[in-house]
Amino acid sequence: MSTLFISDLHLDQHRTDLMAAFVNFLNDHARHAENLFILGDFFEVWLGDDFIPPFLQPAIDALAALPVKKYLMHGNRDFLLGEEFCKLTGMTLLNDPTVIDLYGRPCLLMHGDSLCTKDVAYMEARKMLRDPDFQADFLTKTVEERIAFASSAREQSKAHTGEMSTDIMDVTPSEVESAMSNAGVNLMIHGHTHRPATHALMVNEKQATRIVLGDWDASGWYIKAGPSGGSPELVSFKLTGD
Ligand code: MN
Repeated sequence: MSTLFISDLHLDQHRTDLMAAFVNFLNDHARHAENLFILGDFFEVWLGDDFIPPFLQPAIDALAALPVKKYLMHGNRDFLLGEEFCKLTGMTLLNDPTVIDLYGRPCLLMHGDSLCTKDVAYMEARKMLRDPDFQADFLTKTVEERIAFASSAREQSKAHTGEMSTDIMDVTPSEVESAMSNAGVNLMIHGHTHRPATHALMVNEKQATRIVLGDWDASGWYIKAGPSGGSPELVSFKLTGD
């Protein structure tokens, strides 16, 4: 019995190695689990459930065939993932943040981008991109228009992140503490920053743990939790398959 967490696979059509690794991961690891959580940026970009690129079919098929409970959270790149995708894959969409009961221990799940509050320009853009009216309008556009918007947003973001100092790209510690305090947890799991690590910290003068998933690139990352107690384990593995 175990619960697995992954995030930041950034699947896209140029990385067939990542697609193969994901399908392998489902077959090797996830099918022995009880629950699988994908905590955002599963895809490099998501233009809407009405435009699912054919190269993703192996991932969709593998998820649909996986007989475990599967949960999905939006990341900053795939925040338009919707109910149609969930229906195809048998996944349940979670709010960011969500608190789950992880074998008796409340655990806060987030993608992580909302914790990077020192990046003021990004936080402003996030507010717009997550606005339901903006999203509804975006989804009325043609696929070509959506692609054009997404690539110009990515260019802007690249230019922007390129000029920022590295501490701005990480989470704001006080934001982590208040998120955990508000949620009433001493355990948190998120991704986004591509800085995989297990951090010990104090929240309301009590010991707490924040575990950060890594992105999949040369290696893959997952977190495994079980009923036996102790902290969930952050694991990296070599990507295999092509
Ligand atoms: Mn992200």
